[in-house]
Amino acid sequence: MHGAADVRIESVPDARLTEPTDALVRVARACICGSDLWPYRTMERSETGRRMGHEAIGVVDAVGAEVRTMKVGDVVVMPFAYSDGSCVFCHEGLQTSCIHGGFFGSGEVDGAQAEALRVPQADGTLVVLPVGEGDALMPSLLTLSDVMGTGHHAAVAGKVAPGKTVAVVGDGAVGLCGVIAARRLGAEQIIILGHHRDRIALAEEFGATEVVSERGDEAVERVRELTDGFGVHSVLECVGLEQSMLTALSIARPGGAVGRVGVPQDDTLPASQLAFYNNVTVSGGPAPVRAYIGELLPDVLDGSIEPGRVLDRTVPLDEVPDGYRAMNERQAIKVMVEP
Ligand SMILES: [Zn+2]
Repeated sequence: MHGAADVRIESVPDARLTEPTDALVRVARACICGSDLWPYRTMERSETGRRMGHEAIGVVDAVGAEVRTMKVGDVVVMPFAYSDGSCVFCHEGLQTSCIHGGFFGSGEVDGAQAEALRVPQADGTLVVLPVGEGDALMPSLLTLSDVMGTGHHAAVAGKVAPGKTVAVVGDGAVGLCGVIAARRLGAEQIIILGHHRDRIALAEEFGATEVVSERGDEAVERVRELTDGFGVHSVLECVGLEQSMLTALSIARPGGAVGRVGVPQDDTLPASQLAFYNNVTVSGGPAPVRAYIGELLPDVLDGSIEPGRVLDRTVPLDEVPDGYRAMNERQAIKVMVEP
């Protein structure tokens, strides 16, 4: 990406191993992320550009001398953050804060919207999958690299539990995966806040029990009507704008929790007093998706969840710029890249 709305496909030197803990991964499928749309709208012009993409599933092409958990030919899923798997934060299940970690496509390391990339800390980062490259489950397995794990993180941070009432703010890929996660964790009522017809339809198939298409104060009013006037136990904030956070805090019932995973576009949180007087917990951040793969993988493999359905458009590598445009114009929920 060279600037706002300026995505180009360029030839760069082949990815190669540089550390003994690296793996080289040939990308089988990658994604364009909703969070890639923030720089797509606002990035200042850059001479060097930024290599984009942080979600991938692929095949191990080479491993460094110290890599133990995978071999050439293994199919692996790549979380959007790399992590060593051995530091204090990795042991606590917060791999996004790994002392030796970082984020793919951030400028420090390669991006995944590519034919191949170098993966640092391969043993801590990558998870070997029990499937072949052509498996029909590849799209759903790919979502474990970000959106399904992120939706799950919103649900965990929002304290979703059996019998609870839940609202999901945002009907993008993460919000839709949040619906899957809330249902999977046993929520009784799942209200989706969004207004794109196709996305709402998918949310209902994923387990949403009610739809609120109003915005702002009307949306808050509507959620209260659906919850005996109290609001919900758990809110999954999957947008990151001031307005969406204000809505989230306004529909949490006293003692409730907001799990936020939308990348915040503001420095401060709105409705601080409201959250305070209602004893509302605000939690969340970049999802440690690496920690969740073990829990979510069996449900993907046995077909009990199908998060890959959020990937509603596929483009080859040379049409990635068109994929960005389609997502930015809301013509696609989420675009999958097949190099
Ligand atoms: Zn670590």
